[in-house]
Amino acid sequence: MNAPVASIPWLVATVVAIRSETASVKTMTFDVPCWPGHLAGQHVDLRLTAEDGYVAQRSYSIASAGGLGSRIDLTVDLVADGEVSGFLHEELTVGDRIELRGPIGGYFVWSPRQDNGLLLVAGGAGIVPLMSILRTRASAKSKRPARLLYSSRNADRIIYGDELDALAALPNGVVLTHTITRGAPPGWRGERSRIGRVMLTRREFMPADDPDVFVCGPTAFVETVAGHLVAMGHAASKVRTERFGPTGEQQE
Ligand SMILES: Cc1cc2nc3c(=O)[nH]c(=O)nc-3n(C[C@H](O)[C@H](O)[C@H](O)COP(=O)(O)OP(=O)(O)OC[C@H]3O[C@@H](n4cnc5c(N)ncnc54)[C@H](O)[C@@H]3O)c2cc1C
Repeated sequence: MNAPVASIPWLVATVVAIRSETASVKTMTFDVPCWPGHLAGQHVDLRLTAEDGYVAQRSYSIASAGGLGSRIDLTVDLVADGEVSGFLHEELTVGDRIELRGPIGGYFVWSPRQDNGLLLVAGGAGIVPLMSILRTRASAKSKRPARLLYSSRNADRIIYGDELDALAALPNGVVLTHTITRGAPPGWRGERSRIGRVMLTRREFMPADDPDVFVCGPTAFVETVAGHLVAMGHAASKVRTERFGPTGEQQE
């Protein structure tokens, strides 16, 4: 049983590093004294308070591998006119302190103790909690099969591209499929369309080995993909979903 979110204390986190992942995505590393550790897939609430007392609060998935330790990574996509993502991208610098609380979530989580294979489907920034799962899987040297299907608008918007390639090259590495929805570059060897039932079937995302399924991304993307997976025979109870964006947003 998870503690109610309101009872989780706010902690002061210090920015210790910031790096660009793509032109519109940054990863911020925070040092959080008293951080209790987290599971892959969990998120934090982040709270910004202005001098006049105005408060803005948003959720961000934890990108770093599950486990103990006082450092966590958050990866933030800059949303046009976004209040909090805009602040985090344009104002936050190393040494700044912000408030966050967590870890939050007991449903969209994975631990290496889970025995089944993994099937991960990401749209855009929805890769963030799935990257935590893959990082956790790699550090545990899990041999259970894992597949990732990752949809991006174009090749420049692929987050963690080099690290994903490295994880795919490991022994028992993740089987990685990218799809680009708006203009693949010359020589592109991945998929070239939005994720649909035909692609899921062709890419061996069938339920034969009863994998644990995690789908994350914009709301419309998650609903479309999860619907296809259940229609293909995946048990609805095994298809875990996390929605990032506002209702009605287009698929990546
Ligand atoms: C559990 C959970 C985990 C999340 N994890 C991450 C994460 O790891 N990385 C990450 O970048 N985001 C993540 N998000 C989304 C994040 O919480 C914010 O919604 C996002 O950063 C936008 O906030 P903002 O204040 O910048 O935009 P706002 O000021 O709230 O919104 C500005 C405009 O953008 C639209 N908008 C709001 N959110 C989105 C969105 N996600 N995509 C597109 N348009 C949007 C609004 O409708 C509005 O028109 C997560 C959300 C949830 C619920």
